[in-house]
Amino acid sequence: MPETDERPRPPDGANNLIVVVFDSLRHDSWLAAGPTNLARLGPVERRWSYASWTAPSHYNLLMGLLPHSSPARVYASEYYKQDFIRYSERLGAPGMEFKRLLPSIFLPTFLRNELGYRTHAMVSMPVLNRHTPINRDFDSYELMPKHNDMAAMLEKMTFDEERPSFYLLNTGETHYPYALPDEDPSTWPRISGVHGVFKRLDDQPGPGGEPEFFDERTLAELRDRQINAVRHLDRVMGKLYDLAPPKTWIIATSDHGELFGEDGYFGHGPISHEKVFEVPFAEGLVP
Ligand SMILES: [Zn+2]
Repeated sequence: MPETDERPRPPDGANNLIVVVFDSLRHDSWLAAGPTNLARLGPVERRWSYASWTAPSHYNLLMGLLPHSSPARVYASEYYKQDFIRYSERLGAPGMEFKRLLPSIFLPTFLRNELGYRTHAMVSMPVLNRHTPINRDFDSYELMPKHNDMAAMLEKMTFDEERPSFYLLNTGETHYPYALPDEDPSTWPRISGVHGVFKRLDDQPGPGGEPEFFDERTLAELRDRQINAVRHLDRVMGKLYDLAPPKTWIIATSDHGELFGEDGYFGHGPISHEKVFEVPFAEGLVP
C-alpha cells in the first residue's frame, strides 16, 4: 500500500483491533452452539444492541460504542465515558478517553488520522456497501461477493510491523437463511416473502414482502441453522487466531438479534422485542 498520507506514527506497542460482527446472531444461539474457539477469547456476555437492524447498529459500533450492558442507575454520559476508557486496553495505547474521539466520534477516523492505524472493512450485507456514509476513513472497504463467507475475508487480511491494523468484519452466515458458504443455494430454506426481500438486497421487509405465518417446526429448523452457523464460524475463528499477530485485540459480537417466532415475530428490523436487542459479546487478546 502506498504511503501517500501523512498519518502519525502509531503509539509504541499498539494492538491490532479486529471487530467481528456475526450478523443477526442471537446470544442464546451462541450459547447453544457451545463454541470452543470463541470461548478462548473471553467469557461471553449478554449485552444489548443500540439498534434493531444492521445499518444503525454498525454506525453505532463504528462510533466505538459496543453493545451495552444496560446498567441501571447510571447516566448515559457516564457509561460512554467508562466504555471508552476500555480502549486503552483494547488498543494497547494509554490515555484513551471519549473526548479524544471528538469531533468525528468515528473510530476509523480516530484510529487512522490520530493513531496512525491502517483501517479496513469487509462487509457482507449490501446495506453496508462502500457507497454508504459508513465508508469513511477506511483505507480499504469491500462488500464481499458472498454474504456468508468469513473464511474468504481471512484470505485478504494482512498485518505488518510498521502500523497496527483495524478491521471491521461483518459476516452473514448467521443471517437469514443461515447458510454455510459451501451449501448449495438451491437447498436453502425458502420462506415466502422473506427470501424475496433478501434477494432485493434489502435488509428490511418492504411493501408486499410480508412474511406468512411460520409454523413452529420451520422456525425451530431455522434457529438450528443459525446455531450450526456458529459452529462453522467457530472453526473460522480458530483460523483467525492463527493468522493474527499476538498483539491483536479481537471483539466478537452481533449487530442485533433475531426473532424465531417469539410473540409472532420473525427476523429483525422493525421489531421492538427483547430478543432483537439481545446480543452476545466477547473480547480479548488473540488466544
Ligand atoms: Zn444485521
